[in-house]
Amino acid sequence: MLARRVSSTQSTASAAVAEDVGPNVLGFLSRQQLPATPQNYALGFLIVTNSEGLAARAVDAVLMNGDRLTSDDVGRILAAHGPKEEEKGESEDHAKVRRHTLRLAELAATAVEETGEFGRALEAEQTLLAGTVAIAELVATMIERSTRTETQLAKAAKQIEDLRQEVETAKGDAHNDSLTGLHNRRGVLARLQGMTPDQRPLLAICDIDRFKTVNDRYGHVVGDRVLKLVAASIKESCGQNFLARWGGEEFLVIFNGAVTPDEAFTILNRAREDLANRKVKLRATDQPLGLLSFSAGIARFGEKSLDQAIAAADALLYQAKENGRNQVLVED
Ligand code: GH3
Ligand code: MG
Ligand code: MG
Repeated sequence: MLARRVSSTQSTASAAVAEDVGPNVLGFLSRQQLPATPQNYALGFLIVTNSEGLAARAVDAVLMNGDRLTSDDVGRILAAHGPKEEEKGESEDHAKVRRHTLRLAELAATAVEETGEFGRALEAEQTLLAGTVAIAELVATMIERSTRTETQLAKAAKQIEDLRQEVETAKGDAHNDSLTGLHNRRGVLARLQGMTPDQRPLLAICDIDRFKTVNDRYGHVVGDRVLKLVAASIKESCGQNFLARWGGEEFLVIFNGAVTPDEAFTILNRAREDLANRKVKLRATDQPLGLLSFSAGIARFGEKSLDQAIAAADALLYQAKENGRNQVLVED
């Protein structure tokens, strides 16, 4: 409940505050360039009366990218964080599950990384400690255990990632990703059914650069918005070519039959430049988000299997990352 009971001594002060609410809500609507409809006013009221609340945080999370808070945004935020919060709709529950599984996947990835580092540190110390046979044996055993744990953790991390994909798929249309609206992995497999090699000459994998930093700095809600923005940006350049969300922050493009490697490069390079030139800011603070970019590898598909073509594109993507990111590489 937003209304609070006040004692008689407090009521004068509360009335003064209440008088400010109206103008402040209208000020909020005018800054956001929103008409004073009941729905918009309801959101403004929530923000003005509880600037630290979930609704205010959700508004803060919306990115400024030239456009403003839309009525869709308002509806979504009100549905999730409006007065009837205890009766949250299904979509918010799904978002929660998705963010939980995401955190789980991140934890698993960190664990794999740290165990790997521990193993490598042990190996580095191995020669120094090799003075006595007993210590050398002990260190060798520890290295062996650490490697085994690393493998097990990597397997667990993969299972968690698969589970995450399942959660994503279970959420909505089986062939579409609910966050970005793009096709998902199943959508890709369905699309490839019955296609001949000459109808799909090239394939690309695009991966957002340093995306984990966005999540770490601004949280998953902003991370999700960035993902949507990048998806929309690539989609705009890809035109009729098939675009899917392949993994967390990875996108797969299957180019149409007539597209040459040079043309595929031009398409993705334009998408990359468009994205890098955007001045994306956090709405609440006007803080620029910094460079948003992706790296990509374009490989021949044709006679190759999907796995082979993806492996080739992944190898180029890896090279693009090694070269410093924010670039597109094409298979010779
Ligand atoms: P690199 O340039 O090497 O690709 O660095 P990176 O940080 O992008 O790569 P890394 O694979 O370490 O991190 C990918 C991150 O993507 C980790 C994970 O939290 C995030 N991610 C994956 N799916 C989602 C999602 O649905 N929402 C959000 N907010 N983040 C996601
Ligand atoms: Mg990645
Ligand atoms: Mg990445």
